[in-house]
Amino acid sequence: MDRQIVTIDGPAGAGKSTVAKRLAQELGCIYVDTGALYRGVAYEILQHSIDWENEHDLKVFLSQLDLNFVMENQQLILTSHGKDISGKIRTPQVTMLASSSSAKPAVRKALLSIQKNIAENNDAVFEGRDMGTVVFPKAPFKFFLFADLNIRAKRRYDEMCGDKKDIHQVKEQMAQRDENDSQRQSAPLKPADDAVKIDSSSLTINQVVDMMIKIIRAA
Ligand code: C5P
Repeated sequence: MDRQIVTIDGPAGAGKSTVAKRLAQELGCIYVDTGALYRGVAYEILQHSIDWENEHDLKVFLSQLDLNFVMENQQLILTSHGKDISGKIRTPQVTMLASSSSAKPAVRKALLSIQKNIAENNDAVFEGRDMGTVVFPKAPFKFFLFADLNIRAKRRYDEMCGDKKDIHQVKEQMAQRDENDSQRQSAPLKPADDAVKIDSSSLTINQVVDMMIKIIRAA
């Protein structure tokens, strides 16, 4: 059976997660945050002090990797060897390591089948960096969500209320991640040729979701 797959790619802080969650609710399908998988890899690398830049060590590590998404209360929870690690993958250290280690083709390959298996069994909105270009090039609906770096940094800063970080640091790290993601050889961040590009700089989440729904329903 052909599944309804919607892809949303774009840089950090463009609003992908919130938009993807709402869109999935509207469409009555699941929402898949593929960044969580790359974060899961980074978390495990840190837990086991893996020398991930060493190809051999990375290969052995990946052969023992056991990441999965498990459905709980209509949400996908990331597990590693059966344990819920979703609360542990949002630290700054994991965030930066996910960005650099995701450039490794072996890491990307190891996560491919998890993503494809979900799409075989579910209608879903997939959010990430290479959903429309590499993982689901035949998806019927592809979006690329972006926004001005200053606006993205401000949004992320506001989300982190209570944290001691300053906005310049947030902006710098975001720019670094953008650079890593778009300059890498393997599955770089870029819009698919047939993606609808949406600049969310001056749009609300609801406006973005409405635009997407209109496009999907008009098809
Ligand atoms: O989306 P999120 O910011 O949680 O993703 C964390 C990191 O994982 C990104 O900075 C990016 O390097 C990587 N990623 C990726 N491909 C995806 C999703 C995320 O390379 N499809």
